[in-house]
Amino acid sequence: MSRRYLIAGNWKMNGSLAANAGLIDELLAKQEQFPDIDMLVCPASVHLESVHRQIGGEAILLGAQNLSDQVKPGAYTGEVQGAMLAELGCRYVIVGHSERRALYGEDDATVARKFAAAQAVGLIPVLCVGETLDERDRGVTEAVLGRQLGAVLTASGIAAFGHAVIAYEPVWAIGTGRTASPEQAQAAHAYLRGELAVQDAKIANSTQLLYGGSVKADNAAALLSCADVDGGLIGGASLKAAEFLAICAAAQTLS
Ligand code: PEP
Repeated sequence: MSRRYLIAGNWKMNGSLAANAGLIDELLAKQEQFPDIDMLVCPASVHLESVHRQIGGEAILLGAQNLSDQVKPGAYTGEVQGAMLAELGCRYVIVGHSERRALYGEDDATVARKFAAAQAVGLIPVLCVGETLDERDRGVTEAVLGRQLGAVLTASGIAAFGHAVIAYEPVWAIGTGRTASPEQAQAAHAYLRGELAVQDAKIANSTQLLYGGSVKADNAAALLSCADVDGGLIGGASLKAAEFLAICAAAQTLS
């Protein structure tokens, strides 16, 4: 069976108008080599408009890294509403990234509200879940993943996962150069899919599950070949065109 991988770049708080233009140029130049890959880039919100203009059509998909949990416009200084992101051409938005959970105090309830706020305007949320090293060492990885996923399932229901992506990102692997082994990634993904399947097997089978955490050109094939890994959420390596394209090439070979 052929697989359509989603390879997503989380640029985090990096980039400039000039640097982004150069990076997108390089991705556009090679994009045709990956007909079976959905390539997604998630620049900082202030860069969405310029990146969208440069991308033009849908050869490369656009996503945001965060959105407000508030759906209606109003007095929320500094916040960006989902509808604003959709208007700028975003199709996806990352919610619950571990950096937002750890640095900006986003708890499961906030993440669940952001997930719902994204879907309310037709954005596809990329729900990030993952355990810390301490949690893994204490043997509570599945309990943590179950709690993080469960908060969204309770708030939005299983049907919502027909229009959502989940990214398993072990916190200890993000930006550390230390990646989960394919066995660890597969086990976590199988657990997440199983949690969805308890409620709806069809939706569970079709929900894309991405792995994120120090994915690079040289470990991408091993991770992407796991049965329940449907793509990658790539941080550092998405800022270098050659590295990101090599990950796309690995996915294309496997698809
Ligand atoms: C991320 O930021 O989501 C991420 C996975 O980062 P990195 O690939 O750098 O570990």
